[in-house]
Amino acid sequence: MARAIIVGAGPNGLTAAARLAAEGWEVEVYERAPYIGGAAASSTDIFNNSIVDLGAAGHPFGIVSPAFNALKLEDHGLEWLSAGYEMAHPFEGETAVLLSRSLTATAEELGADAQAWEKLHAPIVENIDEHIANLLAPILRWPRYPARLAQFGIPSVASASILGKTFFSTERARALLAGSAVHAIASPTQPFTGAFGLLFGALGMRGGWPVAKGGTQSIIDSLSSVIHAYGGKIFTDCNVSDLRELPRAEATILNLTPRQVLQLRGTSLPHHTRWILSRWKYGTAAFKVDFLLSEPVPWSDPRVGRAGTVHVGGTVAEISRAEKSAASGRMPD
Ligand SMILES: Cc1cc2nc3c(=O)[nH]c(=O)nc-3n(C[C@H](O)[C@H](O)[C@H](O)COP(=O)(O)OP(=O)(O)OC[C@H]3O[C@@H](n4cnc5c(N)ncnc54)[C@H](O)[C@@H]3O)c2cc1C
Repeated sequence: MARAIIVGAGPNGLTAAARLAAEGWEVEVYERAPYIGGAAASSTDIFNNSIVDLGAAGHPFGIVSPAFNALKLEDHGLEWLSAGYEMAHPFEGETAVLLSRSLTATAEELGADAQAWEKLHAPIVENIDEHIANLLAPILRWPRYPARLAQFGIPSVASASILGKTFFSTERARALLAGSAVHAIASPTQPFTGAFGLLFGALGMRGGWPVAKGGTQSIIDSLSSVIHAYGGKIFTDCNVSDLRELPRAEATILNLTPRQVLQLRGTSLPHHTRWILSRWKYGTAAFKVDFLLSEPVPWSDPRVGRAGTVHVGGTVAEISRAEKSAASGRMPD
């Protein structure tokens, strides 16, 4: 039996391990932390037994992921939960705009821009499975549905702010698009953020932006359950510093960042690859603050309290300012 070694038990490393184990490989996963999950782990230590996701919390890509679906994670305890609304975007002194799991219901929120919203999003929402098959697939291959890629067309290169100005007449519709776009961790004034905003919004209007019941850790636990069901092994508290200390394997997967890969001994990487990795420029980091609420947030529009995600970024100009500050190392207002 061929053996695969996976270094790093984040969601990607565990998914690779589960897929290989299901294909008959003998897999061994090594994780340096005392727990598995990386930035997708949850903890009950912070707020006295309440579940806190330490990193990832919302899973618009998780629920449609072809890799997760192939593993039938629901048979291993994973359950997705959705709120009444997928997302709310409040505005000062006005009602909020709500993103629902319906293109029509979302468009109806937008008054003068209802038709434009529907027209812009319909080709993506209606063919979301094919778009996902194109986008969440290995990158060095011909897309499965090339005609669907063309549906992004010119909007795909535009920034979310230009796309919003071109297609919408109201600030509310523009901000709704920009709020989704900045999940790419980039200012909505940057190229390609328009396509990301369209896709992220479309995911909400189709599969939703769910959370995992029991916290993101339950995605991790279901992946671990698949790995163990196929006889795979996961070792925690194992900081891998030299690959030569691990058992010999036909495949070694490093689920690490470029700098971490360069620090590893025994990788025998070609000089050119090391050079490319050493030039890798890390993007803006993400961090989160968790609040344990004593009572519901008193939103002036009570519908906001029924949304799973709330974008408190304000107008496109305010979102752009905040993203630009973060990107240049300043704390946004
Ligand atoms: C604050 C925050 C919020 C986020 N929110 C969301 C969200 O809502 N939705 C979403 O989809 N995504 C979200 N993300 C992104 C998501 O968490 C990451 O995309 C995901 O965790 C990446 O998974 P990974 O397996 O590639 O890497 P990681 O999760 O980083 O896992 C890498 C693992 O490798 C281990 N490791 C490193 N070096 C070694 C070594 N030498 N030996 C052994 N093990 C090692 C680490 O301990 C870690 O467990 C968020 C991220 C952060 C930080």
